[in-house]
Amino acid sequence: MNDQIKTYTMTIGGKPVATSEHKDITNPATGAVVGRMPMGSRADLDAAVAAARAAFPGWAATPDAKRKELCHAVAAKIEEHSEEIAALITAEQGKPIGQARGEVAACAEFLSHAASGARRISGDIVASDNRNEEIHIRRHPYGVVVALTAWNYPAALAGRKAGPALVAGNTLVLMSHELTPLSGLFLARLAEQVGLPAGVFNVVTGRGPTMGAALVSSPETDLVTMTGSLRAGRDIYAAGAADLKVLRLELGGKAPFIVMEDADIDAAVDAAVAARFTNCGQICPCNERMYLHRAIADSFLERFVAKTRALTMGDPMQNPDLGPKISAVEVDKVAAMVAAGRAAGDEVLLAGGPRPDGAFAQGHWYAPTVLESRDAQSPLLRDEIFGPVISALRVDGFDEAVALANASRFGLSAYLFTEDRHRLMRAPAALKFGELYLNRSNGEQVQGFHTGWRHSGLGGEDGAYGFDGYFRKQTAYSTWA
Ligand code: NAD
Repeated sequence: MNDQIKTYTMTIGGKPVATSEHKDITNPATGAVVGRMPMGSRADLDAAVAAARAAFPGWAATPDAKRKELCHAVAAKIEEHSEEIAALITAEQGKPIGQARGEVAACAEFLSHAASGARRISGDIVASDNRNEEIHIRRHPYGVVVALTAWNYPAALAGRKAGPALVAGNTLVLMSHELTPLSGLFLARLAEQVGLPAGVFNVVTGRGPTMGAALVSSPETDLVTMTGSLRAGRDIYAAGAADLKVLRLELGGKAPFIVMEDADIDAAVDAAVAARFTNCGQICPCNERMYLHRAIADSFLERFVAKTRALTMGDPMQNPDLGPKISAVEVDKVAAMVAAGRAAGDEVLLAGGPRPDGAFAQGHWYAPTVLESRDAQSPLLRDEIFGPVISALRVDGFDEAVALANASRFGLSAYLFTEDRHRLMRAPAALKFGELYLNRSNGEQVQGFHTGWRHSGLGGEDGAYGFDGYFRKQTAYSTWA
């Protein structure tokens, strides 16, 4: 066993928990082992749930101001260790180091924003039909929250869920994704250092779907918040049915990027490139399909291809524009989608260039690829790609673009570039998506509400609406003589 490689521990009941079985976590840029993930057992999982259950009454009764203070302290710890966490994210997930630093900052901001909400936990007093009676509507934490995260933002998604769940008074069992578990395991150790009571923040790892399913169906867990694929979301929905589990599912997307004839083309190209290729195309609100007004399509595509061709790809620690994809399976999936698009008649405008070699020869690379579709039913315009590939379709006008954008089972995000005030005013009613980017690239903010419509999810996260999702409500009819 190579002693330079760290073996990580889970955090259960405030203690580091080691396992006898481990899984090697590899760097997607090189294939090198970067750490050993503990393979938690069913007993570990039950212990984590029991610890969270035992800690719940005390944590729920802790004054909001104290929970706020502790959550701010976790955020400060994360900032203190930001370089270490960023390097860990880059090593396990592959995003360029600059983007990993941004992810750490987002993780800390999710926690500190949630902490700032502690002083705004409130209820309502509603007028009663009866004399000498008041109706009080209160918020209560649910109890034990299960957080299941995707691999594309392992630290930010952990902070996004942990912050509001804990500040609301719930206790947490986080299952860090088995492809990118190390940053989540590290965060839990930091949380312990600031004095979070034992059992409030537990982190387990192991066989994801098996462990996740057990956490969903456990009678001792109260709410499940999951970010991931539609496939897993459906499984969780079904598994949660027996116990009527409260679910928040943040699932996939297929964001349309609409550019009208009156748009600022340079701004639209910059935004479209950033929205497609950041994190190697592995962002849920990524630009996934482009609808271009016929009058500007040629000039847009010429500039889009030129800008895409200039993107750099290589050692993520040197901060190129693109790192690798997460896994060989994902590379194969993207390659198969490009082949399916070509078989459906899509024209390749930019075929991916050479892949990095030498120390990076074993990495999971896929170079940026641009196509143009002739048929609105092309698989590349229909299914989530989640990689550095994009196809465009020409349209004749706004209404056609909107109709094509809405004709998708996904409803997470949509983009529109136009200088026409009437179209901008019509867009929110016309575009059936939970998140709109009007004349701007992606990048949600902690005070917004990140929510998917249709098959993109149930629930939503961030801001006041996301925070509210971590409370159950209670109505008390209170009379006096
Ligand atoms: P995934 O569905 O494979 O896994 C997500 C989590 O669910 C993991 O923790 C996994 O272990 C767990 N899981 C998987 N199957 C399970 C089951 N049957 N029962 C219980 N738990 C189970 O997702 P992924 O591949 O990590 O993520 C990629 C997807 O996530 C993409 O579709 C992307 O669009 C989506 N995503 C959505 C958002 C959002 O906010 N809407 C954000 C990031 C990523």
